[in-house]
Amino acid sequence: MATRFYVTTPIYYINDVPHLGSAYTTIAADTLCRYKRLRGFEARFLTGTDEHGLKIQRAAEERGVSPEALATEVSEVFRSTWPKLGCEPDDFIRTSEPRHKSVVQALWSRIAEAGDIYLGHYEGLYCVGCEAYYTEKELEQPGNLCPLHKRAAETVKEESYFFRLSKYQDKLLDLYANHPEFVLPAGRRNEVRAFVQSGLEDLSISRTTFRWGVPVPGDPRHVMYVWFDALTNYFSALQGAQDTALFWEFDSEKVHLVGKDIVRFHAVYWPAFLMAAGLDLPSTIFAHGFLTYAGQKMSKTLRNTVSPVALAEALPCAFGADVLRYVLLRSISFGQDGDFSMDELLSRYTADLGNALGNLLNRTLPFAETVPAKAATTALEDELLCTCMRRANAVAEAFDAYAPTAALTALWTVIQAANLYVDKAAPWAAKKSDPARLGMIVATLLEVLGGVSVMLAPVMPKVAEAMRLQLGLPPLAPSVGSDMWPFAPPSRTVGEPLARGLPLFPRFEKSTEQELRERFAPPKAEAASVPVAVEAAAVAAPAAPTEVAAEKSPVRPTISYDDFAKIDLRVGVVISAERVKKKDRLLDLRVDVGEAEPRRIIAGIAASYSPEQVVGKRVAVLANLAPRDFGKGLVSQGMLLAADIPGGLALMTPERDAEPGSEIR
Ligand SMILES: [Zn+2]
Repeated sequence: MATRFYVTTPIYYINDVPHLGSAYTTIAADTLCRYKRLRGFEARFLTGTDEHGLKIQRAAEERGVSPEALATEVSEVFRSTWPKLGCEPDDFIRTSEPRHKSVVQALWSRIAEAGDIYLGHYEGLYCVGCEAYYTEKELEQPGNLCPLHKRAAETVKEESYFFRLSKYQDKLLDLYANHPEFVLPAGRRNEVRAFVQSGLEDLSISRTTFRWGVPVPGDPRHVMYVWFDALTNYFSALQGAQDTALFWEFDSEKVHLVGKDIVRFHAVYWPAFLMAAGLDLPSTIFAHGFLTYAGQKMSKTLRNTVSPVALAEALPCAFGADVLRYVLLRSISFGQDGDFSMDELLSRYTADLGNALGNLLNRTLPFAETVPAKAATTALEDELLCTCMRRANAVAEAFDAYAPTAALTALWTVIQAANLYVDKAAPWAAKKSDPARLGMIVATLLEVLGGVSVMLAPVMPKVAEAMRLQLGLPPLAPSVGSDMWPFAPPSRTVGEPLARGLPLFPRFEKSTEQELRERFAPPKAEAASVPVAVEAAAVAAPAAPTEVAAEKSPVRPTISYDDFAKIDLRVGVVISAERVKKKDRLLDLRVDVGEAEPRRIIAGIAASYSPEQVVGKRVAVLANLAPRDFGKGLVSQGMLLAADIPGGLALMTPERDAEPGSEIR
């Protein structure tokens, strides 16, 4: 097994600003690197900026500055952004740096000596925006429009050096067949394979039409094609003899995270260049999907409106960057396209972070000032510890498979199980009657929380540290060769001091939430898809009213006010939720209705709500209904109110934040 890990983001092109999309990739890389360090790997995380090309040369001319000056200015923006999002790259490479240029030229010479570069002429349809030639088939007709930039590609003829890409067709196909992990996810691999199978032409890899690039060795009239230059950054950043050996040549897991739009360059051209030079290949090209914001594509305006740093800093919470990291990785399955929005962030903040994780700490720490002694284990502890161990494995396996979303989902089942354990073990009751039992409950929860703090650290490093401080644990200090993963919840020493602190995730005021929604609303001018949506809705609408009307039952016979007064309705907050085995319709809930203990309510809402969706929700509870037995020990102490809507149920929820236990009249 490899013990070294090398992860890279694409180097970001400096005609752009750091936006949610590039933040997403960088956060994912940082997360994987932190995870590997916890597992004892020697790990290296690289990002940087791609600075050459005609587009930059033109932008600099327009602004009346040198390309070098423009590159330095914008590169600095990227470099200073990532730490504000909790990302700590080990190196930041710029393609205009001498250390990069010398390696690119050496790579060129090596491939030329091997006979795979020759001089010829190239004529083709060229998109300046993409800095790439296209075939007519790839462009939109009529008009040869670039599919990305929607403007006409120009016919360009120039003397050019070519790379013998055609020679590598079979070798590349062998690579995909023998190493299916080379391109992930599998869907992307199939696309790449189909592209290679359709036939590879030699690749034009130099330009004479602009100057801002790396000169071709021995023929300075030519500068290198931007992709030949840019891709080499992954190798040039390891230029020191020792680093190259450790992270590239020896048994090292080398992962390039890329957007799905640049898979071809990474999974076809890059390995072919490396093969030609006789160098080792990366282990995996992992392509993530595209991010939309509140349903809109990442347009130029949107990139500026929802700057990731502004977003993280606007949250009235000590851990804004960690919250952003969590929601991006949790809500958008890594590898798929996905949507992010302020609504999503706020709802996950409240449900996953406040009501699940924060609440678990708040339900544990008030019961002790030091780590209590353990007493006899009951089935409840066994069940919880068993869940923790199984899930700790699942979290690790998910991170190993570059699946941070799945890792977080598995981790949150531990948090949910621990909250459920609190409900069942009822420390508030043990406190009165059985101090030894209380000690056992708290000691168990401290172990579980200690494990959670480690598993959370790759995604939420600052929150993990704050948790550990409250739990009386030392900061995490990974060291090479030592695996810190909590496969079993780490045990504690009796008497260690705890340090209960402020809540990690204070509840936001409704007015604050509203301000955040307004400030980070997607720009209206670009809501071009709205008319289409309205049209579609208009088409779909007429059928609905009749359908619904047919299902509505007539109003029941009149009752007296006294009858109504007998009904006790309260606001409750759902603390935890679990599916009920073999009862598809039911969720087993713990609902805080302002009493000493949360109530258990069995609700028939599983077809409309997942357990995760319902945790943290404020609900209307019929609080004085006689207990109802659903069999197998499932006794419900109340009922939730919900509206019958087409296709399911909609829970009734107060329009403003109401304290648990508030009367509904
Ligand atoms: Zn284009």
